[in-house]
Amino acid sequence: MQIKDDCGEGQNKTDSIKNKIMFMTPKVNKDLCIGCGTCASIAGDVFRIGSDGKAEVIPGCDCAGKEELINQAKDACPVQAISVE
Ligand code: SF4
Repeated sequence: MQIKDDCGEGQNKTDSIKNKIMFMTPKVNKDLCIGCGTCASIAGDVFRIGSDGKAEVIPGCDCAGKEELINQAKDACPVQAISVE
């Protein structure tokens, strides 16, 4: 019984965290972006290199469930051009 209660509490905490991060919206500052493509190679469902040679968030991107990849891309960007709101 103790184990079941612990699992239930953990699940609630997980759901709470998911609810907070599901609304993550990544942004690219094109003034900083050097078009290296790292973000697109890490999170290709979220970022792409646009016709201007700089990264952009893919229009209509459903970012739910991709928070970890978005954060990896943000951390890997050499010029800190990616922000998350
Ligand atoms: S990783 Fe940063 S600099 Fe490289 S393309 Fe993406 S946003 Fe631009």
